[in-house]
Amino acid sequence: VAPEVTAVQTVPSFVQGAWWAPAAAADGVPVRDASTGEVLAKVSTEGLDLAAVVDYGRTVGQRELGRLTFHQRALKLKELAQFLNGRREEFYEVSFKTGATKIDSMIDIDGGIGVLFTFGSKGRRELPNSQVVVDGPMEVLSKDGSFAGEHIYTRIPGVAAQINAFNFPVWGMLEKFAPAFLAGVPTIAKPATPSGYLAAAVVRAIVESGILPEGSLQLVSGPARTLLDALDYRDLMAFTGSASTANALKSHPNVVTGGVRFTSETDSLNAAILGPDAVPGTPEFDAFIKSVVTEMTVKAGQKCTSIRRTIVPQELVSDVVSAVGARINERVVLGDPRAEGVTMGALASLEQLADVRAAVHSMLDAGGELAYGTLDSPSVTRADGTVGVVEDGAFMSPLLLSWADAETQEVHSREAFGPVSSVIGYRHLDDAVRLAALGSGSLVATVCTNDPAIAQALVTGIAAHHGRVLMLNREDARTSTGHGSPVPHLVHGGPGRAGGGEELGGIRSVLHHMQRTAIQGSPNMLTAVTGVWHSGADRNFTLESEGVHPFRKSLGELRIGDAFRSELRQVTLEDITAFANTTGDTFYAHTNQEAAAANPFFPGIVAHGYLQLSWAAGLFVEPAPGPVLANYGLENLRFTTPLAAGDSFRVVLTAKKITPRETDEYGEVAWDAVLTNQHDETVATYDVLTLVAK
Ligand code: NDP
Repeated sequence: VAPEVTAVQTVPSFVQGAWWAPAAAADGVPVRDASTGEVLAKVSTEGLDLAAVVDYGRTVGQRELGRLTFHQRALKLKELAQFLNGRREEFYEVSFKTGATKIDSMIDIDGGIGVLFTFGSKGRRELPNSQVVVDGPMEVLSKDGSFAGEHIYTRIPGVAAQINAFNFPVWGMLEKFAPAFLAGVPTIAKPATPSGYLAAAVVRAIVESGILPEGSLQLVSGPARTLLDALDYRDLMAFTGSASTANALKSHPNVVTGGVRFTSETDSLNAAILGPDAVPGTPEFDAFIKSVVTEMTVKAGQKCTSIRRTIVPQELVSDVVSAVGARINERVVLGDPRAEGVTMGALASLEQLADVRAAVHSMLDAGGELAYGTLDSPSVTRADGTVGVVEDGAFMSPLLLSWADAETQEVHSREAFGPVSSVIGYRHLDDAVRLAALGSGSLVATVCTNDPAIAQALVTGIAAHHGRVLMLNREDARTSTGHGSPVPHLVHGGPGRAGGGEELGGIRSVLHHMQRTAIQGSPNMLTAVTGVWHSGADRNFTLESEGVHPFRKSLGELRIGDAFRSELRQVTLEDITAFANTTGDTFYAHTNQEAAAANPFFPGIVAHGYLQLSWAAGLFVEPAPGPVLANYGLENLRFTTPLAAGDSFRVVLTAKKITPRETDEYGEVAWDAVLTNQHDETVATYDVLTLVAK
């Protein structure tokens, strides 16, 4: 039975299939409500056997996840997303304590659930319903085709240890968990101490749902400083937090020599560049100002993706400063997120507030000037609606700094992880590109312009320094998901200072949890290992061997390698002319002997490729109603040898890939189709995609 997270002395861990709390809670680290300073709980891992936690993931978690295919795991993610969706209100209540407003909480909680939905859907659309992913085409390595190679992905055999930051306790946990789970790798989530109680509340709901297989998710609430000691080359550690902790962890012997796969996503000095065309009065200028203020104030600026450097044409610096100030004055109400009308909450903790203030002081000492806001304790709206200074609340006014010298190192290297941004001026586009690069690698940059040439110059200039670039203009200002929001479909991470990792990124992030292996062997062995029929492997011509056309077989009866071979059919000049006339495709290669012969690719008039495809369908089809329900497309179509008037061709169709759908009464079958002429030369190759009843 899960202890009540919000009402107990300690935030529990969920390990080895059970809830765990330290014997002596009183010694733990106190965690406080960000707005009031009230102690909510204590956190400690004193006495927790982390090696046993890792072992449980490697054994029980691996075993249970190994029973499921990608599609079955994806369905569980979807089911979990639906379940958590129904519990959101209770998570919002807990989230208020972290200083987050309702909107902040939605980014964290709904955003995290959204990642589960996305991987639940992508996993079924883009991965096979099996456990092996084939990467790229087969490479034939011997003249006779009996020896070939290709790459496959299989899951890593250990655990994914995920260390998360305090700012997004739910999204941060779920965005790492979803791809690991889909890959089949058990997760050990370690939330940051200041907001880990919210992550624990979500894990409590997950455990209550009973949806996940045993061992697939464990939660360690507390410092867990020795987690890396228990990991080896089988495992992965994904870290989000400060660059200094990332550097300490990646110097650990188990990473340096032990082979732990370590990826990190760390704080970065993200930039937003305003194009010279985006002057006041343009929709781009308005969109830019809105974006800067949003990034300063959402989550009180505690976002790894926030805009820290606002890089604008020198002559527009003062316009930008006043427009940002005006929008903050108009929109931002600072206070306890539980109070009516509050739009910006507290920082996560008093420690974090002290850190941010120290960073700002250091920036001011280095030459920054306060262009908007005050470092004094701000007057805020309390939960009861009264207004005043709250000594124990981690509140801070939004601050905008300006810099006389755009080159000052501090503005490009010091991150104040709060509602703080700097405005710096550039003189020409190359200058803007150079200034953006002074951040030494970041997660994201915005380029705001309505001029395609400026967008092209800026984006290609800065792209290699950033993990993601948002192009903002009047066309997407309303529909854009915004500078600060990574989306599960695209890479989240960045080079250099941003840690060098790639979290998210669609199926790419699933593959991060898998090992790519080159496999070599005969086509029959490659077929056996991957479950996908390979050219050159055995075929079973079922009409000849069993008296059954493969189209008469249901999904359950069909085997990869089941095949059909047609008779040869001749294509005459009359056929080609008739096809040209009925379709209207009278391209000269099909209608004009002289012009066709002059073309370097054709011997004279040739059959249309589409004639070949249509006739091939006529050659392989089995017309009676049966298990084949529909042809939903072709893939990888190539016409390799022209088919001249008078030539003949046949088709060989082979069941290549069979993908049962978990929730439907049918599945997908990809058929390898090869058209050959009377000399056995390949005329065309493609895959026919069909739906076949179970
Ligand atoms: P830390 O790097 O100190 O902590 C991040 C996570 O790492 C926490 O879960 C923390 O646990 C854990 N941790 C710290 N040291 C170790 C260790 N030796 N072994 C294992 N785990 C460890 O960052 P903070 O949360 O204190 O934030 C500090 C700064 O990090 C911010 O001011 C900001 O600059 C940056 N940051 C970047 C984020 C990003 O998304 N890139 C997000 C949040 C912060 P515990 O909390 O229990 O100490």
